[in-house]
Amino acid sequence: MTINVALAGSTGSIGRQALEVVAASQGRYQIVALAAASNEAVLRDQITTHRPRVVAVTDDTVRANLAKQFTKVHFTANVADVVDDADVVVNAVVGFAGLPVTLATLRRGKRLALANKESLIAAGPLVQPLRATPGAMIVPVDSEHCALHQCLRASDAPQRELVSLQLTASGGPFRGKTRTELATVDVEAALAHPTWSMGRKITIDSSTLMNKGLEVIEAHELFAVPYDRINVVVHPQSIIHSMVTFTDGATVAQLSLPDMRLPIAYAIAWPERFDVSFGAIDWASLRRLDFEAPDFETFRCLNLAYAAGRTGGSAPAWLSAANEVAVDAFLDGRIGWLQIAEVNDATLQQHDGARLVNVDDVLAADGTARRIARGIVNTFAHSAGTVSA
Ligand code: NDP
Ligand code: MG
Repeated sequence: MTINVALAGSTGSIGRQALEVVAASQGRYQIVALAAASNEAVLRDQITTHRPRVVAVTDDTVRANLAKQFTKVHFTANVADVVDDADVVVNAVVGFAGLPVTLATLRRGKRLALANKESLIAAGPLVQPLRATPGAMIVPVDSEHCALHQCLRASDAPQRELVSLQLTASGGPFRGKTRTELATVDVEAALAHPTWSMGRKITIDSSTLMNKGLEVIEAHELFAVPYDRINVVVHPQSIIHSMVTFTDGATVAQLSLPDMRLPIAYAIAWPERFDVSFGAIDWASLRRLDFEAPDFETFRCLNLAYAAGRTGGSAPAWLSAANEVAVDAFLDGRIGWLQIAEVNDATLQQHDGARLVNVDDVLAADGTARRIARGIVNTFAHSAGTVSA
């Protein structure tokens, strides 16, 4: 039986690797829908190769251009439309823009292979009840959560037997650096990740440890584990992707080379195991595995995420929105690297405590936090003499 896969964010880092995984399956999986924002050239190639029935494109001009060429494909502006014909939906959109795909997939009672952590973080209170829709399920693509998902299969009664989650972090390109050294780092240095090749936003998030902070919230939402039982441990080799400790003292870990095709394949194939191997370890050449505690003083975003997670409600949505604004501003050269945490912190300090009951609440929380964060960015940009528009 062929399994129908919809892929949102197909032109990105995860999206392209998801297409490699589907191609490797030799027909077991087929692409029925694709979605992207504006990368016309890559999307054109993907449509030619994978022949999807539905393609969602948010950019009007790109959508019109492609629609002229592929007359049998149904083009839409609405990314949530990719869900219709799918058995499994891979959400690899970056940022808050991934929210409609997450919500539509769960509402329709389908399996969600979730890379887009931001949607779960921003809209946790809405996503949770949707997981109870018959047939709906989230299988994480994020490598740490995919590892936890695998480790938890070692217990028949995780609610009783689980003690704590150990989320591993590579430490990013700036591991071991001081705040003084980090005051002058540029975009190029922040984009030079030591172990993973990823999209720009998550690569900057990895340099600030905001990515790990968001992943702490993601783990809480996915596995309903309290924040004081979610630990972060720095593991520079990125071989252990995360671990679970049980009541008898046993810790179960998942190990593989840093290759996102493995977690993508796991999430697409669940509950089966994919029959092509990605990232298997050559044990004769693996020399060592190191561990150290994270530096919470230098990498302030990690604590901000724990704080926002513990506050709950719309606080994670505010943090994630502020962070998207701050990362964009850093990538555009409008603020320095240290100011990413400052924008996030100053925005969270203005958090209004609003509850999230429906989608409008989530959109409002995201919009308010972005407005506040942009104001803070502008103050920084003015004081640095690089006035933004
Ligand atoms: P990229 O920036 O490489 O790709 C983002 C994708 O999202 C592109 O296909 C882009 O289209 C699309 N996109 C952007 N905005 C919209 C929109 N409004 N509607 C529809 N599509 C949109 O990101 P990554 O692949 O690195 O990351 C994707 C997600 O996966 C993120 O949430 C990230 O945190 C998560 N993740 C990524 C990992 C990785 O290894 N890269 C690891 C773990 C998690 P276009 O190209 O046309 O702009
Ligand atoms: Mg991760």
